[in-house]
Amino acid sequence: MFKNFKSVDKTAYGRGSFDKLGEILAPHRHEGNKYLIFFVDEYFEGNQAFEARIPMEAGDALEYISVKEEPTTELIDSLRDKYLAEKGMPSGVVGIGGGSVLDVAKAISLMFTNEGSSTLYQGLNLIKKPGLFACGVPTISGTGAEVSMTAVLTGPEKKLGLKCDWTVLDQIVLDPDLIASVPNNQWFYTGMDNYIHCVEAKTGQYKNTFSEAFGDKSLEMCRKVFLELDRKDPLSDEMMMVASYMGGLSLTYSEVGVCHALSYGLSKVLHYHHGIANCIAFNVLKDVYGEYVDEFKFIVNKHNVDIPSNLSANWSDETIDAMVEVAIKLEHMWRHAFGDNWPEVLDRARIKEWYKRM
Ligand code: NAD
Ligand code: ZN
Repeated sequence: MFKNFKSVDKTAYGRGSFDKLGEILAPHRHEGNKYLIFFVDEYFEGNQAFEARIPMEAGDALEYISVKEEPTTELIDSLRDKYLAEKGMPSGVVGIGGGSVLDVAKAISLMFTNEGSSTLYQGLNLIKKPGLFACGVPTISGTGAEVSMTAVLTGPEKKLGLKCDWTVLDQIVLDPDLIASVPNNQWFYTGMDNYIHCVEAKTGQYKNTFSEAFGDKSLEMCRKVFLELDRKDPLSDEMMMVASYMGGLSLTYSEVGVCHALSYGLSKVLHYHHGIANCIAFNVLKDVYGEYVDEFKFIVNKHNVDIPSNLSANWSDETIDAMVEVAIKLEHMWRHAFGDNWPEVLDRARIKEWYKRM
């Protein structure tokens, strides 16, 4: 499969690199009305020591983002409209947070320059113009959103990314100190998102040497983090952060598969967050991902993590059917997992059976 895609322009890595953010942003303050918007995960609101480190200058805006719900098209449209009305066009945006906040920064940078609602642009290469300068600072690792060419949004019709070259962040700052405070369960769910990215990338027809090189190294680091290191070992957060970056690159050269297709159904219909939804789905996919699912279960036990199960007993047929409809539309994932003849091995009944196992 031919691909020719864009990477992040600039990457800063290392403990303490967050304190260089002011210097990094300085050359990007000259466009538009010469102000930056900082979108920050609500978790940090009121943490004065952290807030003092955000390099805001006069005129800049700070917007705390609640990630109880994953980012919606409505949120992006309303934030864009609010800032344009109140302060005019910013010079750029900075996202400080997990995959949700990084996606907010990526999406809104595009929606400042592309007219109308973000619902018009959910899909591949629908965006018409490059966005504003966008910088991402991850505070939790695993989604690969820091390097990916998509900003995933939930809209009234679908959960789908604004996906194109211009979605890729211009700058990222990877500071492992920032992920130390992530609670254990969330650390596991988001870290496992990365593990699953690597497994899915290498178990489908779009895999190639480039993708596997990043994916295998990332898997090796995941195993070290989950199976060998104590979480307090400084190497643990450092490896998790780099593994997420490499897992994201592995995916860019390949594709996600069955687990992500099922997970999108869980998120769209039942509002499960991406990481936990993936874990719920991966847990029942031994027939597809074999020994990787055994390893997943071993890690779950080791870390005493709660993976919700026996959920389907409380799901109506309509709920399951709605999730099946979301999943079956993700043809690129099925094509990757089962080949071009995927409709011959996959039908609604098989997808439904997976949901019933959850
Ligand atoms: P998240 O951003 O949803 O955050 C999860 C939780 O962790 C939140 O409660 C948040 O407040 C908390 N948190 C974040 N940083 C913290 C810190 N340092 N200390 C304590 N708590 C912290 O989590 P996520 O798993 O990183 O992201 C999931 C989102 O990413 C979903 O919206 C999903 O659709 C999206 N996603 C995007 C891509 C992509 O390529 N763009 C890929 C996968 C997932
Ligand atoms: Zn994922």
